[in-house]
Amino acid sequence: MKIGKYKLKIIESGYFGLDGGAMFGIIPKPLWQKTNPADESNRVKLATRNLLLESEDRKIIVDVGMGDKWDEKAKRIYDVDDNTSLEKGLANHGIKADDITDVILTHLHFDHCGGSTKLENGKLVPAFPNARYFVQKQNYDWAVRPSDRDKGSYIKSNFVPLFEEGVLSFTIGDARLDDEIDFIVINGHTFGQQMLKISDSANTLLYCCDLLPFVSHIPIPYIMGYDLQPLVTMKEKVKTLQQAADENWLLFFSHDPEIACATVKHTEKGIRVDKTLRNFEEA
Ligand SMILES: [Zn+2]
Repeated sequence: MKIGKYKLKIIESGYFGLDGGAMFGIIPKPLWQKTNPADESNRVKLATRNLLLESEDRKIIVDVGMGDKWDEKAKRIYDVDDNTSLEKGLANHGIKADDITDVILTHLHFDHCGGSTKLENGKLVPAFPNARYFVQKQNYDWAVRPSDRDKGSYIKSNFVPLFEEGVLSFTIGDARLDDEIDFIVINGHTFGQQMLKISDSANTLLYCCDLLPFVSHIPIPYIMGYDLQPLVTMKEKVKTLQQAADENWLLFFSHDPEIACATVKHTEKGIRVDKTLRNFEEA
């Protein structure tokens, strides 16, 4: 798939599991388990699906998955799949970590930025040695001093070394990276999460990160229990889905275990999924 000067590729970097009740907030299990079945520990399966944007002179990766700095206990808790990784996902497209010029982090939760750093001779270093990393300043400031409620999601070894190495660039508010890429800041899930809108005159793709983790989160009350400000998420969903339905945007789901992208449409019940894609070849 091409938008403007960018060739877009889906990079599958792994799978893990989170509590189904937490993933769906107030929604009763008999409803959510129809689309997202739970395992014996009540966990539902999440993908970590990343987006690669390639132009003549840039190779941009959007979010970098869980990374490999996990001990056995944490792997058991989060059911981390050892057989998949960002490295393997990139290798499937003939790309190495050295090739990446830019890493755009939507936010600093471990399932989005765990692959940012790696251990080398006992020291934490950037996993993409030739890349600049981008994150909202507001999210970094929160991540270094999170609340007791969400501090489990912000693991400093994933992002403080980037700052110390001087490879981190801060974005501030809704901003434009170039002719195709816009950042849209949302604050319901956490503070200073940035979605990416990639568009040209014909097509728009929205990397909606944790505003809509699964396709099944499209109905408005389906909001994660993790969100710090669920009523803000609700407003952000209404605004985003309206625009996506009106302008035929392709929504990119970073956590849906099956569906990579979908369009949405207006129905009598509200905005619902229209067409789904497992990969860009189906487009
Ligand atoms: Zn998150």
